[in-house]
Amino acid sequence: MSADAAAAAEGALRVEGRQFLMRTYPEPPVTFERGQGTVLYDAEGRPYLDFITGLAVVSLGHAHPAVAEAVAVQAATLCHVSNLYGNALAPEVARTLDRLINGGTGQAGGQVFFCNSGAEANECALKLARRWAGGGRHVVISAENSFHGRTLATLTATGQPDKQAPFRPLPEGFVHVPYDDVAALSEALDDTVAAVLLEPLQGEGGVVVPSSDYLGAVRALCTERNALLMLDEVQTGLGRTGHWFAFQAQGLEPDVVTMAKALGNGMPVGACWARAEVAAAFGPGDHGSTFGGQPLALAAARATLATMETEDVCGRAQRAGACLSAGLQGLPHVTAVRGSGLLLAAQLDAPVAKEAAATALERGLLVNAVRPDAVRMAPPLLVRDEEIDEALTVLGGVLDELPGAAG
Ligand code: PLP
Repeated sequence: MSADAAAAAEGALRVEGRQFLMRTYPEPPVTFERGQGTVLYDAEGRPYLDFITGLAVVSLGHAHPAVAEAVAVQAATLCHVSNLYGNALAPEVARTLDRLINGGTGQAGGQVFFCNSGAEANECALKLARRWAGGGRHVVISAENSFHGRTLATLTATGQPDKQAPFRPLPEGFVHVPYDDVAALSEALDDTVAAVLLEPLQGEGGVVVPSSDYLGAVRALCTERNALLMLDEVQTGLGRTGHWFAFQAQGLEPDVVTMAKALGNGMPVGACWARAEVAAAFGPGDHGSTFGGQPLALAAARATLATMETEDVCGRAQRAGACLSAGLQGLPHVTAVRGSGLLLAAQLDAPVAKEAAATALERGLLVNAVRPDAVRMAPPLLVRDEEIDEALTVLGGVLDELPGAAG
């Protein structure tokens, strides 16, 4: 068999094998084999500009050498030990996260629980809130149109009834209020409430940025009513919005911060940080994870965070974000650009985002239809100017040709 025929046969086998996968996602239009920086390559070696990065995961770009090397060295040293024993990486990475959350003051303000995903980071936050507040006070308020994960509790916190409907009955103790509405929150925040869980900027909900005084007002309300302010920075955290954490743009202090996606630059690792007095509510046996905080994932996190600091990803996200945003505003059919740093959505004048994303993919650009009429972009924070120009040229051409959008 020729090499080409062998490759084709192997490809066919791989596609046929999809019958063994649960159908929780639509059929994929392309299968990727490798990546380098902002570029992904499919099975035929065709390059694609990745302006979605696994949904804000691969913030340093694919196969970043520092992370690849750290993972390889750690894999050959020690992948895993039970959390019943210590490993040197966990305290080190926790200390770095605490410093980044506290704006580099170096004052220890909190403690970290490591896990494997964003949903698990939020599960930890939800359990911590109940443990902290004690009996009779267990309600968590979150926002309509929010996204917090797919486990039963985080799905219940998620403010999207269509995603919840097939899985009712849902766990009790979750209330939703309109996002960016302080009066509605004030009304709901009674003495049964343990915590308010919010995204500082709603990612999956369409890249929705609240008023600049919203989070500050929520902080004041939570303090007044003795409820925790828990911020879900799973998508927005770690430089994505041009700040280490999006809340830092508002100058407030949350009680709990959850993160995941970018933390391992593709290795599955999440974390829930809480102020020390709040974290103290957990004792041995209250929460746990077999894999959470294991050396292999944390070697990736340590290398990712160190590289992010050296590369000044926050400054780069601000500069590149301003450039991408300005470029998007000049494209046909784009009526507005929302977001911050390198988490942006182009609002279109017609519900053609799906077609636009599909055509962009055919032309070698990955973007995502975050709403029927909005296209999301979240490229690597190290994206180069030429790559931004190229992406804008591709997307501009796609939008210009799409039927349905007003000319
Ligand atoms: N929270 C937010 C804000 C998210 O955007 C996501 C995923 O998109 C999650 C939680 C869930 O993260 P994971 O898919 O890692 O469980």
